[in-house]
Amino acid sequence: MAKSLTSRVAVYTGMFDPVHLGHLDIIRRGSRLFDRLVVGVGINPEKAPLFTAEERVDLLRQVVKRFDNVEVEAFDGLAVRFVRDVGANVMLRGLRTLTDMEYEFTMTLTNLSLDNELETIFLMAKEEYSHVSSTLLRQIASFKGDLSKFVTSEVKDALERKFQE
Ligand code: ADP
Repeated sequence: MAKSLTSRVAVYTGMFDPVHLGHLDIIRRGSRLFDRLVVGVGINPEKAPLFTAEERVDLLRQVVKRFDNVEVEAFDGLAVRFVRDVGANVMLRGLRTLTDMEYEFTMTLTNLSLDNELETIFLMAKEEYSHVSSTLLRQIASFKGDLSKFVTSEVKDALERKFQE
């Protein structure tokens, strides 16, 4: 897709450790709202994710390949800088619960104080995914529970492999 200067570009950041159907639903809806959607996979040296950044990017690329206006990139440092680097001024976020809202409110205000031209757009999680989180999935996987309702088959296989290692 052409990257014209006037196209509407948004960035959706997260750890995606690993990507699940709740994330994928936000990506699908975001891909319809924007001309181009860049998914930013956070590299946070203070966190020890289950999947490496390369693995998280790779899984995301596999699950978003059906959307031709969605790209996936890893980033470190400030999310607001990453948003600017890819030529966007909109951050897309998903909201599950009231707890998410409190955190997102603080993050949005912080990001605005770093870049006052940045807009954050929230999409409410679909009811069926509103309880799904990567943390929960890692726990289910560690107890060899059934993951098929929450993730695509490639992510299910990857999670199962992690806990066989
Ligand atoms: P998680 O909490 O699952 O580890 P991330 O930190 O990767 O997720 O979250 C990235 C973004 O995706 C955040 O905006 C978060 O609110 C959103 N998100 C996470 N899980 C869901 C879900 N089940 N439905 C909708 N949005 C979600």
